[in-house]
Order: sequence, then structure tokens, then C-alpha cells
Amino acid sequence: MLRTTIRALLVPLATVLALAAPAFATDLPPNELGRVMILEYHKIDYPEERWTRTPENFRRDLETLYAKGYRLVGLNTLIDGRMTLPAGTTPVVLTFDDSSPGQFRYIEASGKLEIDPKSAIGILDAFTRERPDFGRVATFFVLPAADPPNRLFNQPDLVGKKLQYLVSQGYEIGNHTLWHANLGKYPEPTVRAQIAGAQQWIQRYVPDYRPRTIALPHGVYPRDVSWAITGEAKGTQYRHDGILMVAGGAAPSPYSQKFDPTRLPRIQALERDLKEWLAHFDKNPQERFVSDGNPMTITIPAALRDRLRKELPRDVRVIER
Ligand SMILES: [Zn+2]
Repeated sequence: MLRTTIRALLVPLATVLALAAPAFATDLPPNELGRVMILEYHKIDYPEERWTRTPENFRRDLETLYAKGYRLVGLNTLIDGRMTLPAGTTPVVLTFDDSSPGQFRYIEASGKLEIDPKSAIGILDAFTRERPDFGRVATFFVLPAADPPNRLFNQPDLVGKKLQYLVSQGYEIGNHTLWHANLGKYPEPTVRAQIAGAQQWIQRYVPDYRPRTIALPHGVYPRDVSWAITGEAKGTQYRHDGILMVAGGAAPSPYSQKFDPTRLPRIQALERDLKEWLAHFDKNPQERFVSDGNPMTITIPAALRDRLRKELPRDVRVIER
């Protein structure tokens, strides 16, 4: 009798607790000086190979990240240091390079255009419908003048619809030059024309949108990094707040002295690399960025105080633990 009563009490209590606690958050203490993974995807297609993740494996990546307490944040938000995440979760950034068709495809179904559920956008949209607290954001580094199939996702009639969809849904578009130019090979005017030209194309479809980040094709810097940061060519001004490399591991926290927005490292989202990095953070949880749940405070281990950047976003308060 007593046992039955306790069980009757316990079940609803467990249900209440499960609802109250953020699902799949970690119980790690906050550490907002920890590192953040910026993942780099290329093709979402078949078969799985060096530059291709299958739709099923991409979906599985999202499930794994979610279950391990990772939550999506926008690259721009990371650079600004303005992440709003539940306590105990870790930010992760998704980036897609080269605008290949499997990243964003429309298909016709019963006479209507719909987003291919096997394209990256279809998978992301579906996943975040099931798990709204995962976040719904990614950055697409597109190529407006590449040869097909890499020219703006390879459905010429639907380019405007796609770019407008991305921006209206909170996805980010980044600069990747006009046609994947190796910026180390060219003189200044060519570098600037490549960058400004790409932005001009994007703005033809989404006029007020400013790409805030650039991913360097092949990870190659121009001879002078400033050419990629700000400038003007063909009557178009560009200004980037972040420059992304193609490798380099997990990025430093945006609050760390080591954070250099002109040298943002990425992790290529291959089966092996992703697995290794997730295992690395499982084994070394103290290296992982863990949110304190409050966007107005930066919580750090007291022993790491010296690693804080000098300039932090105004109006935030540092808490040592
Ligand atoms: Zn590329």
C-alpha cells in the first residue's frame, strides 16, 4: 500500500522535473571561456565521402549534438558575444561552403514547390520543428558566379526564393568570393572585385542584406588581410566582422584574449573529425564553453581570469566561480 502511494507520487514528480529541466543540458558548471566548435559542411548528398555527408548522417550529427547538450548559435551572434542559451548548454555553429545543390533544394510535390526534406535546409527545418530548443541557424557561404552545380545551389529560377528564404528565416549568408578564387594569387584590385562582386550578386536578391563574414576559398588569405575585411569595388562597399579558415580545430571563446575574428578556425564535419572532437570534449569537459544561461553575465572559472579579453560587450558583467 505504502509502496503504491510512493510510486503514485513519484511518477508525476519525475514528469514535472523532466519538464522543468532543460532537456539534454549538461550538468557541467558554466565556463564561458571554453572553446566553441564551428563546423564546416560541404555537400549533403550521396555517397558519403571526403567532401560529402549523406542526409542521414547529417541528421545524425544534429541528433548527437543535441543529445550532448550542444545548441545552435549564429556565427554573427558568436562574433558579437551575444549568445542566449540555456544554462548548461554549449554553443555550436554550422557553416556550409560552396552552395552545392544538396544544401538547399526545392522539389515539386503534388504540383507544389517544397523544400527537399533530404537537403540540408529541409533536414535542419524538420529537426528544429521536433526540437525547437536546438536553435535554427546556419551560415551559407555561397558562390554566385561559380560553374554549375555550385552556382547558388544550382536551381537558377529559384535563387531569389532561396536567398530570401534564408534571410527571412534567420539563416546567414556569407561571402565566399564570386567563384572560389584563391585570394593569395591575385593583386589587390582582383581580390576586392571578387569580394565586392559576390556581395553585389547576393544583394541583387536580398537588397538590404549585408554579409558579415567571409570564408576564404581553400583557406588562403590575400597578401594583405585588410583587403578581405573592408573595402570597395564596383561601387559596392563591404565590411566583414569575421574571416573563416578551413581548418584549425575548435575556436576560442569570443570572450577569450585568443579570439581573433580575422582568424576563425573551423572543424570539417567529417565522420572521423567530428567524432574525435566530440570525444575530446567528453574527456575534457573543462575545455568546453558552457553557458550560464544569462546573456548579461559572463561566468568564468576564477583561475582563468587572466585569459579574458580586454574589450567585452558593454553592459555585461563578469562572474568568477
Ligand atoms: Zn569553398
